[in-house]
Amino acid sequence: MALTTFSGGIHPPENKRQSEGKAFSNLSVPQLCYIPLQQHIGKPARPIVEAGEIVHEGQLIGLADGYISANVHASVPGKVVGISEHPTVYSKRGMCVVIEAQGSFSTSGKPLEPSAWESMSGLELLNRVAEAGVVGLGGAAFPTQVKLHPPGNRPIEALIINGAECEPYLTVDDMLMQTFPGEVIEGVRMALKILGITTAFIGVEDNKPRAIAALKKKLAEIRPSENIRVSTLKTKFPQGAEKQLIYSLTRREVPSGGLPMDAATIVQNVGTIFAIREAVALGKPLFERYVTVTGPCVKNPGNYKVRLGSRVSDVIEECGGLVAEPAKIIMGGPMCGTALDNMDIPVVKGTSGILVLGREEARSLDYLPCIRCGRCVTVCPAGLVPSDMVNAIEKGRLDLAEQSHPFDCIMCGSCAYVCPSRRPLNHFIKLAQEKLRRRQKE
Ligand code: SF4
Ligand code: SF4
Repeated sequence: MALTTFSGGIHPPENKRQSEGKAFSNLSVPQLCYIPLQQHIGKPARPIVEAGEIVHEGQLIGLADGYISANVHASVPGKVVGISEHPTVYSKRGMCVVIEAQGSFSTSGKPLEPSAWESMSGLELLNRVAEAGVVGLGGAAFPTQVKLHPPGNRPIEALIINGAECEPYLTVDDMLMQTFPGEVIEGVRMALKILGITTAFIGVEDNKPRAIAALKKKLAEIRPSENIRVSTLKTKFPQGAEKQLIYSLTRREVPSGGLPMDAATIVQNVGTIFAIREAVALGKPLFERYVTVTGPCVKNPGNYKVRLGSRVSDVIEECGGLVAEPAKIIMGGPMCGTALDNMDIPVVKGTSGILVLGREEARSLDYLPCIRCGRCVTVCPAGLVPSDMVNAIEKGRLDLAEQSHPFDCIMCGSCAYVCPSRRPLNHFIKLAQEKLRRRQKE
């Protein structure tokens, strides 16, 4: 039977073998945690602790500031030694609460009593998600309480769960579905209850047969009253992008410039679903997450539970350190992740992976002029003409670039991947988007 998919896209080398199948293990608590107040799209959280204060694990230290914002919690017990600027993945000078670990752990390692969430209302569940500071863990980091509360005039018919994990190298979602299929399904049921609907599709690429089998087995055991389906997707990049995933699973199209709710759907990453379950069932704030740490320069690649605010340098050290000089360190996957210029950058809620590449794997940053081969056009899943758009951007013709629909770009990086001239097309488009947004605000 043909597997469900979308048109366009690419199939880069998967490179998942290094961490695939490696069971989760906990990294030690770092001595110093740099917890950014901005780990989400929207306004940074407002600090509510002061230097010198003693905090406990999971304590609220940053309060969501406005509708699109998210709470931030202490990931370790200890002393706040400063609230200061520090480089983060989002900003060269992001405000961070710096905590020196000390004292006892109140939450981690101790079994928490699950609550009787089924007797609670959808609104009560939503409030728990907001209190716990849950945001999109797939990388987008959009506050989950906002996404799960669409405007009343926008009916939602289906919840789409992104278990595709189409980025090369990353295996954390695969391992999450294999290890915690019951928790994932319970999280899906909670999200359905919040949305007041009963239909969900969990989309998983066919290169994750163990995750698919684990979810299907658990569904058969639980036999939930909701209509939850596990669908096998063709392994192709960017199968996990929202518009492509919605199309693959439902054949509904999100219009240009539109949102998933325009196709009566809401998309959540499988990691976010797991965090929803921890927030609702256990009352656990989001202060740690699972991360794939991999690449040929890391001694012990694998899947690890990491405290938010741990510096990349500490994480790599905990994974056995470096075995070769890295040429490139990426937070996230190689296609959509962010290259880091500094190993002091802390892990945040949206960090799905830390990828440490050597010279061979890191592509050259030099690029050549466009040779009009058209490959970028063929693979673009958004139906754009990246070459023309970027040629206009390079000439400073933002007006022309704007006519090519830059805001429909999902930043998948497929165009740059296939470009024989190694042109960083998606980065140009991102810059153009930022300039256009600034211009719209002026
Ligand atoms: S233009 Fe955007 S959506 Fe199209 S392939 Fe490039 S990065 Fe992906
Ligand atoms: S793939 Fe690269 S060289 Fe080919 S048309 Fe697109 S930008 Fe130009």
